[in-house]
Amino acid sequence: MTVATESPLLARLKAVLAENADLYHAQQILEWDARVSMPHAGAAARADVASTVTQLAHGRFVSDEVGKLLDDLDAAGHDPDSVEGALIRITRREWERAARIPSELAGEMVQVSGVAVAAWDEAKAASDFESFSPHLERQLELKRRYVACFPETEEPYDVLLDEYEEGLTTAQVEEIFGRLEGELVKLVDRHREDSVEEIAGPYPVERQQEAGRLVLEAFGYDPESWRLDETPHPFAAKPGVGDIRLTTHTDERDLTSLFSTMHEFGHGVYEFDIDPSLARTPLGRGTSSAIHESQSRTWENLVGRSRGFWRWFYPQLQGLFPDALGGVDEGSFVSSVSAVRAGLIRGDADEVTYGLHIILRFELERELLAGTVAVRELPEVWNARMKESLGVEVPDDARGVLQDMHWAGGLFGYFPTYQLGNVISVQVWDRARAELGDLEEQFARGEFSPLRQWLSEQVYRHGSRYRPSELLRHVTGSDIDPEPYLRYLHAKFA
Ligand code: ZN
Repeated sequence: MTVATESPLLARLKAVLAENADLYHAQQILEWDARVSMPHAGAAARADVASTVTQLAHGRFVSDEVGKLLDDLDAAGHDPDSVEGALIRITRREWERAARIPSELAGEMVQVSGVAVAAWDEAKAASDFESFSPHLERQLELKRRYVACFPETEEPYDVLLDEYEEGLTTAQVEEIFGRLEGELVKLVDRHREDSVEEIAGPYPVERQQEAGRLVLEAFGYDPESWRLDETPHPFAAKPGVGDIRLTTHTDERDLTSLFSTMHEFGHGVYEFDIDPSLARTPLGRGTSSAIHESQSRTWENLVGRSRGFWRWFYPQLQGLFPDALGGVDEGSFVSSVSAVRAGLIRGDADEVTYGLHIILRFELERELLAGTVAVRELPEVWNARMKESLGVEVPDDARGVLQDMHWAGGLFGYFPTYQLGNVISVQVWDRARAELGDLEEQFARGEFSPLRQWLSEQVYRHGSRYRPSELLRHVTGSDIDPEPYLRYLHAKFA
């Protein structure tokens, strides 16, 4: 028997990367704590802590030692298709990107984001855009400085996109969104006069939390490794192997928390099922934002808004909310949770209008960066475009331009990955259905593990071993393609 031995070069690289991953996980804890349990007044001090940790991590990672290790490993030769090859490739990509950025700028971006998110929180509560606008100006100035660290491209926005989605260009996004926009507008128009009513609550908070737990347990949530907390803006985090943190926001007026819980489960299960041998390396996380989002949307929409799912779960939900749902049959309920309603809030949007919310943000953030829309005119432009694309009047900035925290957090280039996630989710879904048979029948029996196992095998366990485009080709045999998604929407909504 031969035992494969690791070269000293690779062992040294892995040691540096493990330290770096630990600092990244420490940042995850800092951020989780800031969003779930930190007193509001701690924001400025926390921003300093996060900034220091970022600068330390950045400085260690961009050291000449890492550059030299990568050069030596390349010179020694390795199989580009092996796990080691993938590790060296992705480390080089991250090292080359990071090395362009001074550590002070990396730290400043985190510091400014911490303060801006706290300011945004207050501005949103008071629906006061003006108090937030200096923070947005500051974020844009930092983003321009960041982009200027990279070689000039025709579209400066490409630099930002590439961070979340390796190799994706603005031109590709424009092409896909161009194909979607007209179809989405047509579908929204077709449903404009629908009168599917929302089923009035109240839905007591503890009962909703119970519903969330029942669904998560059936999906494969293990309380030994997962937790679920309340937060105003739901997210998922993985501070380490065996530690998955989901958050949700429960409001007794509606059942959106159930869908956001399923959404965050999708992010959590992707991270949870990554092969543990990839832990503490850059391969030990999901391969891109759009692939990640494709999985959250799978569990939220393709599973959680399917007929089969509700055939299984609706009787249980009725049992939890006899007052609100006792007299509502399953069909009416499913129609209500799938109804197309042009609304103000992206996070509450249905499967059809959602894409139009994203296209608006994709356009606006490029215009903000280019300076063709000024920060002070942003609310006015936002409201006019919402009227144009969705036909809705925005009554105040809290339900308009201030609704999302992304720009406060410096996340420019991130929004498009949400809609690309929707597109990819259906490509993967079609493949799953071809291989697993009638999924709806399985869901109706409360069986979700065949789907989860298949997704783990195909997508989750690989972590970042494959580039997003490569992974998609492995699973579906195709590049990113909006047609399956459009077919899905037409079949369901046309
Ligand atoms: Zn998500």
